[in-house]
Amino acid sequence: MTNIPIPNRIRIQNLHDVRMQMKKFDIQDLAEFFLLYESKNQEIEPAVLLSKMDYHLQVMQESIIKGLQKPNVTSSGLINGGADHMKQLLQHNQSLVGPLFSKVIMNTLAVSELNACMGRIVASPTAGSAGVLPGALLTITQHKQIPREKVVRSLFVAGGMGEMISLNASLSGASHGCQAENGSASAITAAALLYCMDQDFDCIESGSAFALKNLLGLVCDPVAGLVEVPCVKRNVIASVNAIACAEMALSGIRTVIPFDEVVKAMDLIGKDMPSSLRETSLGGLAVCPAAKMVSNQKRS
Ligand code: SF4
Repeated sequence: MTNIPIPNRIRIQNLHDVRMQMKKFDIQDLAEFFLLYESKNQEIEPAVLLSKMDYHLQVMQESIIKGLQKPNVTSSGLINGGADHMKQLLQHNQSLVGPLFSKVIMNTLAVSELNACMGRIVASPTAGSAGVLPGALLTITQHKQIPREKVVRSLFVAGGMGEMISLNASLSGASHGCQAENGSASAITAAALLYCMDQDFDCIESGSAFALKNLLGLVCDPVAGLVEVPCVKRNVIASVNAIACAEMALSGIRTVIPFDEVVKAMDLIGKDMPSSLRETSLGGLAVCPAAKMVSNQKRS
């Protein structure tokens, strides 16, 4: 670090500010910066924050285990043991692409289904998109044998990127559609994955921007107003999207549109979205005949 004293409060509005502040204070590590940002602004010691984040990681790990203990079935019947189906597929060596890919899908479903069954999850950034970060990050980092401490630190990167989206757009499906929930979850997961792979700022920015770009325009149209269909499977798409985008960034592909501008685009798209596609269940999949039958059954 330089001799420039770090102020008691760090003010940042977007990722460009983060880059500038990191340069100013000669901080090389993105997790270190976001940890410092949280510590200064919340007036909590970094060691305490690290310990809290370690606990969140533990809850995420437990949510995968719990989500795989038995078939998850919701009272509506819309969620009916998808993670368990994936477990059987893996056990019978019938994966289309390979066990790691299937495991990502299985673990993402496990957490997302657990959420639908009112189990304990970490909202990351929301409960509706809670399967993405654990499903992709924990599965891949376990496979790559990334040390726990590094994974904990990567959650500060995920949180910091989520904060940048929250400050400039939204993380809420009711406000900006599912692009704000599963799109954001995918973006923060890609960033955390690339941090775990020791990538630099540009690489992390690109992977995260790709992930958000790919899910722009995604509407929020939950069947019968339940966070079940299409939510649970959308977690899987966001999860594999995060990995694909991290992989592209890892290969050296860089984003044409900076992360901050992608976030701005997401904000504008969200503001242009009709209310029928923002968690009201008045449009999209929610008004399909099959969905209406479920709604009617729920009412009767
Ligand atoms: S469709 Fe709506 S309720 Fe479901 S996960 Fe997406 S934003 Fe959340």
